[in-house]
Amino acid sequence: MTQTGSPFTFPSGKTALVTGGSRGIGRAISLSLARAGFDIWLNYRSNHAAAEEVGREIADLGRSCRLLGFDVSDPEAVSRSLDPLLATTTPYVLVNNAGAIRDAVMIWMKFDEWREVLRTILDGFFLVTKCVLPGMLSSREGRIVNISSTSGQAGRPGQVNYAAAKAGLIGATKALAAEVGRRGVLVNAVAPGFIATDMTAQVPLDRVLPAIPLGRVGQAEDVAGIVAFLCSSEAGYITGQVFGCNGGLYV
Ligand code: NDP
Repeated sequence: MTQTGSPFTFPSGKTALVTGGSRGIGRAISLSLARAGFDIWLNYRSNHAAAEEVGREIADLGRSCRLLGFDVSDPEAVSRSLDPLLATTTPYVLVNNAGAIRDAVMIWMKFDEWREVLRTILDGFFLVTKCVLPGMLSSREGRIVNISSTSGQAGRPGQVNYAAAKAGLIGATKALAAEVGRRGVLVNAVAPGFIATDMTAQVPLDRVLPAIPLGRVGQAEDVAGIVAFLCSSEAGYITGQVFGCNGGLYV
């Protein structure tokens, strides 16, 4: 077990795979799990410079970081990248964090915008989890954390595609938790509200803040803290749950 200065304990010498780990929430999760003692497999799609920067920060924390550039919604790219690594190592943690928005009101939403968001979020979850799960089931341990959204719980205008995908991810979390609990694999979802990242850079804060009881948008570290907890020994009796991290925006 690794003592990290936090009140929580983590298994030693294990690996965590974080999709979309190069920026925003995924970056904070990768750093938080590295601080908890995990070596990181860091997936990203195309921004290699950002991924390298996080890789350096993880190395500074004394953990190894393997950069895995692939599109989570591309079946061949996922297995080409992961299968050789999975032949020798099974990650203890999988965080399905990669996500994208293509906002438009339904009346104007194009089929491509619908499909791209569902592909990234739901196909991405399916394809990456499908690769990692057999090893977790064989080793009878593992933590899967799916990053959903308040939008998937409450719905938001202009996000029919994104809300559908994020609500779908919550359903998938609950179904998978029920399937694999007896094999020691725990599956949970975290549903962030407004978090300050590139994804929300265009959102006008004056419209958002009045709806948030805590009076501020969240930071990526707010989400990363819950994810790290869900990967700790102390979270060993929690599965199939959805954790809001939204400042009270949705209760
Ligand atoms: P960012 O846009 O800041 O970062 C997105 C990350 O995902 C990048 O690392 C990006 O890599 C990667 N990515 C995007 N598409 C793919 C893909 N097809 N394959 C592999 N990697 C991909 O997003 P956030 O950090 O804000 O969001 C992270 C997650 O949290 C998402 O699932 C989002 O839906 C969810 N979320 C965010 C909220 C917010 O307020 N920010 C609120 C609720 C949920 P690259 O840079 O190389 O493209």
